[in-house]
Amino acid sequence: MIRDQVQLQALLERTRQWVRERAIPAEDLVAESDEVPCDLVQEMRANGFFGWSIPQEYGGAGLTTEELVLGAFEISQCSVAFRARVGTNTGIGSEGIVVDGTEEQKARYLPRLASGEWTGCLAVTEPEAGSEATNVQTTARREGDHYVLDGTKCFITNAPIADVFTVTARTEPGTAGAKGVSAFIVERGMPGLSTGAPYRKMGQAGSPVGEVVLKNCVVPAANLIGGDEGRGFKTVMKTLNKQRIHLAALSTGPAMRMLELAIAHTTKRVQFGQPVANFQLVQAMIADCQTEIYAARSMILETARKRDRGEDVVLEASMCKYFATEMCNRVADRCVQMFGGSGYVADYSCIERWYRDVRLFRLYEGTSQIHQLNIAKQTLAQG
Ligand SMILES: Cc1cc2nc3c(=O)[nH]c(=O)nc-3n(C[C@H](O)[C@H](O)[C@H](O)COP(=O)(O)OP(=O)(O)OC[C@H]3O[C@@H](n4cnc5c(N)ncnc54)[C@H](O)[C@@H]3O)c2cc1C
Repeated sequence: MIRDQVQLQALLERTRQWVRERAIPAEDLVAESDEVPCDLVQEMRANGFFGWSIPQEYGGAGLTTEELVLGAFEISQCSVAFRARVGTNTGIGSEGIVVDGTEEQKARYLPRLASGEWTGCLAVTEPEAGSEATNVQTTARREGDHYVLDGTKCFITNAPIADVFTVTARTEPGTAGAKGVSAFIVERGMPGLSTGAPYRKMGQAGSPVGEVVLKNCVVPAANLIGGDEGRGFKTVMKTLNKQRIHLAALSTGPAMRMLELAIAHTTKRVQFGQPVANFQLVQAMIADCQTEIYAARSMILETARKRDRGEDVVLEASMCKYFATEMCNRVADRCVQMFGGSGYVADYSCIERWYRDVRLFRLYEGTSQIHQLNIAKQTLAQG
């Protein structure tokens, strides 16, 4: 937690400046080379970006949820690849250890994740466990002072480059659903863990995503998160409840950037003797984007503050994720429209890349349909 507003503003300003001066000029290079250059990763480490959500006692900034989303609005205004590079450490790749790790686990992993020396990831999804994430087929059997894990995880962000994997596995044979599932910390180099080559994706070039294969993978019993079996899904849900607010903010920054690009274009592009931004039908698209961005920001900040007060935000977090990710895609579509033909052609603008990059937001960490179901379920339960 940053108690001092001056300090918080300095962090946000430093982030804004890095995004404008370092990240945005490198966006084309990242897209072409399909990786974030090492020097920029090093700069992100030096700026402390990897440690935003990790408690200060473990070397992070210990940001509150509100502070984290304010940072997320800024860092997500450059290509998604940049924030995806740090985003597993500030989100799903560390949060399980933060919320439920033992003291020894926190002491070993959090300082390295906070500094960015190690990259973390969360491996929940499996070929048969997508939206039905509790349908875990990966198994973990205890043998003396270690567990042996077997199974395959797919679609795992940063898996190809990760050093630390939070992995769900079924420790109680014969159980179904969330019951009998535990979460483990697996390090690269532990026998039996391997990762696949990065997938070829629709967008988000520079953000590697791949499989994690566990074949007779030997993991010390001390790496069972929290030390108790059967709590793995609770850990994942705690992680995701915070992450959904975070991801909503990370979907709002791109919308802000796309609108900025569209405004720059429409105020310069002349047709019928005047900038196309003068036409009211174009202005309607600008107004709809700006209004929806404001709505997302407002609900995200309100939910973040509510979470920081210790209130239950299961419903609100789902609404934020659902609204902000759908909003971002609507903004992307309108912005391509405002660019006209040059919005479709990569040689003329980067808006087509944004359009492809943000499509994923509606799919991961719960598809929009899963969030609709969750929102309705919570609402109906309130009576
Ligand atoms: C690039 C990328 C990165 C990812 N990163 C990670 C990661 O780091 N860690 C991780 O664990 N996972 C990750 N994922 C996995 C992601 O969370 C899943 O892809 C997502 O949850 C959807 O699961 P699925 O792909 O199996 O789709 P499915 O579950 O097969 O869904 C297919 C369609 O059916 C709909 N559907 C499914 N069930 C229902 C229902 N009950 N009611 C209504 N509609 C339904 C879905 O909404 C969707 O439209 C990533 C995925 C991608 C593509």
